[in-house]
Amino acid sequence: MIQDIDPRIFNNSFADKKAASQDLFLAYDGDSVLVREEKDKLWYPSFADFEALYPHLCENASFLFSVDDINYFLVDEKGLDSLDGWIYVTTNRFRTEPKYWRSFAGAMGWQLNRWYKDHRFCSRCGNPTKHSKKERMLYCESCGLETYPKISPCVIVAVHDGDRLLMAKYAGRVYKNYALIAGFVEVGETLEDAVRREVMEEVGLKVKNIKFYKSQPWPFSDSLLAGFFAELDGDDTITLQEDELSLGVWLHRDEIPPAELHISLTSEMQEAFRLRTVKL
Ligand SMILES: [Zn+2]
Repeated sequence: MIQDIDPRIFNNSFADKKAASQDLFLAYDGDSVLVREEKDKLWYPSFADFEALYPHLCENASFLFSVDDINYFLVDEKGLDSLDGWIYVTTNRFRTEPKYWRSFAGAMGWQLNRWYKDHRFCSRCGNPTKHSKKERMLYCESCGLETYPKISPCVIVAVHDGDRLLMAKYAGRVYKNYALIAGFVEVGETLEDAVRREVMEEVGLKVKNIKFYKSQPWPFSDSLLAGFFAELDGDDTITLQEDELSLGVWLHRDEIPPAELHISLTSEMQEAFRLRTVKL
Protein backbone atom coordinates (compact mmCIF):
# COMPACT_ATOMS: atom_id res chain seq x y z
CA MET A 1 0.00 0.00 0.00
CA ILE A 2 1.08 3.58 -0.53
CA GLN A 3 2.19 4.00 3.10
CA ASP A 4 4.25 0.79 3.06
CA ILE A 5 7.63 2.33 2.31
CA ASP A 6 9.78 -0.07 4.30
CA PRO A 7 12.81 -0.05 4.67
CA ARG A 8 12.42 3.74 4.50
CA ILE A 9 10.92 5.39 7.54
CA PHE A 10 8.32 8.14 7.41
CA ASN A 11 8.57 10.40 10.43
CA ASN A 12 5.88 13.05 10.77
CA SER A 13 6.83 14.27 14.26
CA PHE A 14 6.42 18.01 14.21
CA ALA A 15 9.46 20.23 14.70
CA ASP A 16 10.01 23.93 14.16
CA LYS A 17 12.87 23.30 11.75
CA LYS A 18 14.51 25.83 9.50
CA ALA A 19 15.12 24.73 5.93
CA ALA A 20 18.67 24.22 4.71
CA SER A 21 20.11 23.98 1.23
CA GLN A 22 20.11 20.18 0.97
CA ASP A 23 16.52 19.77 2.20
CA LEU A 24 13.78 18.93 -0.28
CA PHE A 25 10.63 20.93 -0.75
CA LEU A 26 7.18 20.28 -2.13
CA ALA A 27 5.45 23.04 -4.09
CA TYR A 28 1.91 22.67 -5.41
CA ASP A 29 -0.16 24.58 -7.89
CA GLY A 30 -3.73 23.38 -7.39
CA ASP A 31 -3.72 19.69 -8.28
CA SER A 32 -0.15 19.75 -9.60
CA VAL A 33 3.22 19.25 -7.96
CA LEU A 34 6.63 20.58 -8.98
CA VAL A 35 9.07 17.88 -10.14
CA ARG A 36 12.13 17.63 -12.33
CA GLU A 37 11.25 16.91 -15.92
CA GLU A 38 12.08 13.23 -16.14
CA LYS A 39 9.88 10.46 -17.38
CA ASP A 40 8.45 8.02 -14.84
CA LYS A 41 10.12 9.65 -11.88
CA LEU A 42 8.89 11.95 -9.15
CA TRP A 43 12.05 13.91 -8.46
CA TYR A 44 11.38 16.67 -5.94
CA PRO A 45 13.44 19.87 -5.79
CA SER A 46 15.97 20.79 -3.13
CA PHE A 47 16.43 24.38 -1.97
CA ALA A 48 19.91 24.25 -3.53
CA ASP A 49 18.31 23.76 -6.96
CA PHE A 50 16.48 27.09 -6.62
CA GLU A 51 18.95 29.09 -4.50
CA ALA A 52 20.24 31.33 -7.26
CA LEU A 53 16.86 32.53 -8.51
CA TYR A 54 14.75 32.13 -5.36
CA PRO A 55 17.03 32.79 -2.34
CA HIS A 56 14.01 33.51 -0.09
CA LEU A 57 12.40 30.06 -0.45
CA CYS A 58 14.19 28.69 2.63
CA GLU A 59 12.92 31.55 4.82
CA ASN A 60 9.23 31.01 4.07
CA ALA A 61 9.17 27.21 4.08
CA SER A 62 7.19 25.12 6.60
CA PHE A 63 8.64 21.84 7.83
CA LEU A 64 6.44 18.87 6.89
CA PHE A 65 8.10 15.55 7.78
CA SER A 66 11.11 13.44 7.00
CA VAL A 67 11.68 10.19 5.12
CA ASP A 68 14.83 8.58 6.56
CA ASP A 69 17.16 11.55 7.02
CA ILE A 70 15.66 13.65 4.23
CA ASN A 71 13.64 16.62 5.41
CA TYR A 72 10.63 17.76 3.40
CA PHE A 73 9.36 21.33 3.56
CA LEU A 74 6.31 23.00 2.08
CA VAL A 75 6.81 26.07 -0.08
CA ASP A 76 4.00 28.46 -0.98
CA GLU A 77 5.30 29.88 -4.23
CA LYS A 78 3.88 29.70 -7.74
CA GLY A 79 5.61 29.77 -11.12
CA LEU A 80 8.65 27.72 -10.11
CA ASP A 81 8.50 25.96 -13.48
CA SER A 82 10.09 29.09 -14.96
CA LEU A 83 13.40 27.47 -14.02
CA ASP A 84 14.64 25.18 -16.78
CA GLY A 85 14.05 21.47 -16.22
CA TRP A 86 11.21 21.82 -13.68
CA ILE A 87 7.57 21.19 -14.43
CA TYR A 88 4.25 20.80 -12.65
CA VAL A 89 2.69 17.36 -13.07
CA THR A 90 -0.71 16.15 -11.94
CA THR A 91 -0.95 14.73 -8.43
CA ASN A 92 -2.63 11.67 -10.01
CA ARG A 93 0.96 10.56 -10.48
CA PHE A 94 0.99 9.73 -6.76
CA ARG A 95 -1.43 6.90 -7.55
CA THR A 96 0.72 5.32 -10.26
CA GLU A 97 4.36 6.03 -9.38
CA PRO A 98 6.04 2.74 -8.47
CA LYS A 99 8.38 4.30 -5.88
CA TYR A 100 5.86 4.45 -3.06
CA TRP A 101 7.95 6.57 -0.74
CA ARG A 102 8.04 9.41 -3.25
CA SER A 103 4.31 9.14 -3.92
CA PHE A 104 3.51 8.91 -0.24
CA ALA A 105 5.64 11.96 0.60
CA GLY A 106 4.08 13.93 -2.25
CA ALA A 107 0.53 12.92 -1.31
CA MET A 108 1.01 13.66 2.40
CA GLY A 109 2.48 17.06 1.52
CA TRP A 110 -0.48 17.72 -0.75
CA GLN A 111 -2.95 16.94 2.03
CA LEU A 112 -1.12 19.27 4.42
CA ASN A 113 -0.86 21.95 1.73
CA ARG A 114 -4.63 21.86 1.24
CA TRP A 115 -5.15 22.08 4.99
CA TYR A 116 -2.84 25.09 5.40
CA LYS A 117 -4.44 26.84 2.41
CA ASP A 118 -8.01 26.20 3.58
CA HIS A 119 -7.34 27.46 7.13
CA ARG A 120 -5.58 30.75 6.59
CA PHE A 121 -8.42 32.44 8.44
CA CYS A 122 -10.12 31.50 11.67
CA SER A 123 -13.41 29.75 10.98
CA ARG A 124 -14.90 31.24 14.16
CA CYS A 125 -13.98 34.93 13.97
CA GLY A 126 -12.39 35.41 10.54
CA ASN A 127 -9.02 36.75 11.68
CA PRO A 128 -5.80 35.37 10.11
CA THR A 129 -4.44 32.18 11.72
CA LYS A 130 -0.84 31.66 12.81
CA HIS A 131 1.39 28.58 12.67
CA SER A 132 2.15 27.07 16.08
CA LYS A 133 5.83 26.50 16.72
CA LYS A 134 5.13 23.58 19.07
CA GLU A 135 2.89 21.29 17.04
CA ARG A 136 1.19 20.92 13.67
CA MET A 137 -1.59 23.31 14.53
CA LEU A 138 -2.96 26.66 13.41
CA TYR A 139 -4.31 29.06 16.00
CA CYS A 140 -6.18 32.33 16.16
CA GLU A 141 -4.72 35.04 18.39
CA SER A 142 -8.03 36.90 18.58
CA CYS A 143 -10.36 34.18 19.84
CA GLY A 144 -7.98 31.31 20.74
CA LEU A 145 -9.42 28.75 18.31
CA GLU A 146 -6.96 25.95 17.56
CA THR A 147 -7.20 23.95 14.33
CA TYR A 148 -5.55 20.62 13.61
CA PRO A 149 -5.22 18.79 10.27
CA LYS A 150 -8.51 17.28 9.19
CA ILE A 151 -8.68 13.49 9.11
CA SER A 152 -12.04 11.88 8.33
CA PRO A 153 -12.57 8.23 9.27
CA CYS A 154 -13.96 6.05 6.51
CA VAL A 155 -14.82 2.35 6.27
CA ILE A 156 -14.03 -0.02 3.39
CA VAL A 157 -16.10 -3.21 3.46
CA ALA A 158 -15.41 -6.48 1.66
CA VAL A 159 -18.75 -8.32 1.87
CA HIS A 160 -18.27 -12.04 1.30
CA ASP A 161 -20.49 -15.09 0.99
CA GLY A 162 -18.55 -18.34 0.76
CA ASP A 163 -16.34 -18.00 -2.30
CA ARG A 164 -18.08 -14.88 -3.55
CA LEU A 165 -17.10 -11.28 -2.97
CA LEU A 166 -19.35 -8.29 -3.47
CA MET A 167 -17.70 -5.97 -5.99
CA ALA A 168 -18.99 -2.56 -6.96
CA LYS A 169 -18.33 0.31 -9.31
CA TYR A 170 -18.91 3.88 -8.24
CA ALA A 171 -21.09 6.19 -10.31
CA GLY A 172 -19.68 9.40 -11.76
CA ARG A 173 -16.02 8.80 -10.89
CA VAL A 174 -12.91 8.75 -13.03
CA TYR A 175 -11.83 5.54 -11.29
CA LYS A 176 -13.66 2.81 -13.20
CA ASN A 177 -12.18 -0.36 -11.72
CA TYR A 178 -13.98 -2.59 -9.27
CA ALA A 179 -14.21 -1.21 -5.76
CA LEU A 180 -15.56 -2.33 -2.42
CA ILE A 181 -18.32 -0.71 -0.40
CA ALA A 182 -16.98 2.45 1.22
CA GLY A 183 -18.19 5.49 3.07
CA PHE A 184 -17.44 8.10 5.71
CA VAL A 185 -18.26 7.47 9.34
CA GLU A 186 -21.10 9.65 10.63
CA VAL A 187 -21.11 11.56 13.91
CA GLY A 188 -22.01 9.24 16.81
CA GLU A 189 -21.25 6.02 14.95
CA THR A 190 -18.78 3.26 15.71
CA LEU A 191 -16.78 1.87 12.79
CA GLU A 192 -18.91 -1.30 12.95
CA ASP A 193 -22.14 0.77 12.82
CA ALA A 194 -20.76 2.52 9.75
CA VAL A 195 -20.00 -0.86 8.13
CA ARG A 196 -23.59 -2.05 8.65
CA ARG A 197 -25.12 1.24 7.51
CA GLU A 198 -22.99 1.68 4.40
CA VAL A 199 -23.62 -1.87 3.20
CA MET A 200 -27.36 -1.51 3.79
CA GLU A 201 -27.51 1.92 2.10
CA GLU A 202 -25.40 1.08 -0.94
CA VAL A 203 -26.48 -2.49 -1.75
CA GLY A 204 -29.39 -3.30 0.60
CA LEU A 205 -27.66 -6.25 2.31
CA LYS A 206 -27.27 -7.30 5.94
CA VAL A 207 -23.87 -8.39 7.26
CA LYS A 208 -22.52 -10.27 10.28
CA ASN A 209 -19.10 -11.41 11.61
CA ILE A 210 -17.54 -8.02 10.95
CA LYS A 211 -13.76 -8.37 11.14
CA PHE A 212 -11.23 -5.55 11.10
CA TYR A 213 -8.44 -6.11 8.57
CA LYS A 214 -6.05 -3.11 8.30
CA SER A 215 -6.12 0.64 8.17
CA GLN A 216 -4.62 3.12 5.73
CA PRO A 217 -4.05 6.86 5.72
CA TRP A 218 -5.58 8.11 2.45
CA PRO A 219 -4.34 11.64 1.80
CA PHE A 220 -6.36 12.04 -1.42
CA SER A 221 -9.59 12.47 0.56
CA ASP A 222 -8.12 13.55 3.92
CA SER A 223 -9.30 10.27 5.37
CA LEU A 224 -8.21 7.38 7.50
CA LEU A 225 -9.55 4.17 5.98
CA ALA A 226 -10.51 1.22 8.14
CA GLY A 227 -10.89 -2.00 6.16
CA PHE A 228 -13.32 -4.72 7.27
CA PHE A 229 -14.38 -8.11 5.98
CA ALA A 230 -18.03 -8.84 6.69
CA GLU A 231 -20.09 -11.94 5.99
CA LEU A 232 -23.43 -11.77 4.21
CA ASP A 233 -26.31 -12.28 6.63
CA GLY A 234 -29.35 -13.74 4.83
CA ASP A 235 -30.74 -12.70 1.44
CA ASP A 236 -28.08 -12.00 -1.24
CA THR A 237 -30.27 -9.83 -3.48
CA ILE A 238 -28.43 -6.60 -4.29
CA THR A 239 -30.45 -3.39 -4.32
CA LEU A 240 -28.22 -0.65 -5.70
CA GLN A 241 -28.17 2.89 -4.42
CA GLU A 242 -27.93 4.25 -7.93
CA ASP A 243 -26.70 7.75 -7.19
CA GLU A 244 -23.64 6.16 -5.50
CA LEU A 245 -23.04 2.94 -7.41
CA SER A 246 -23.29 2.08 -11.09
CA LEU A 247 -22.73 -1.63 -10.51
CA GLY A 248 -22.85 -4.17 -7.72
CA VAL A 249 -22.19 -7.87 -8.39
CA TRP A 250 -21.20 -11.07 -6.64
CA LEU A 251 -17.95 -12.40 -8.12
CA HIS A 252 -16.45 -15.81 -7.43
CA ARG A 253 -12.81 -15.73 -6.32
CA ASP A 254 -11.76 -17.00 -9.75
CA GLU A 255 -13.63 -14.18 -11.51
CA ILE A 256 -12.05 -11.34 -9.54
CA PRO A 257 -9.56 -9.52 -11.78
CA PRO A 258 -6.04 -9.26 -10.30
CA ALA A 259 -5.30 -5.77 -8.96
CA GLU A 260 -3.32 -3.58 -11.36
CA LEU A 261 -2.07 -1.19 -8.71
CA HIS A 262 -1.26 -2.02 -5.14
CA ILE A 263 -1.38 1.37 -3.48
CA SER A 264 -4.84 1.09 -1.93
CA LEU A 265 -6.30 -0.89 0.94
CA THR A 266 -9.20 -1.77 -1.38
CA SER A 267 -6.85 -3.48 -3.83
CA GLU A 268 -5.05 -5.31 -1.06
CA MET A 269 -8.33 -6.60 0.38
CA GLN A 270 -9.56 -7.78 -3.03
CA GLU A 271 -6.25 -9.55 -3.57
CA ALA A 272 -6.33 -11.09 -0.09
CA PHE A 273 -9.76 -12.58 -0.80
CA ARG A 274 -8.91 -13.67 -4.35
CA LEU A 275 -5.70 -15.41 -3.27
CA ARG A 276 -7.15 -16.78 0.00
CA THR A 277 -4.46 -15.07 2.08
CA VAL A 278 -6.95 -13.73 4.62
CA LYS A 279 -8.57 -15.96 7.22
CA LEU A 280 -12.29 -15.20 7.46
ZN1 LIG B 1 -10.67 33.40 15.83
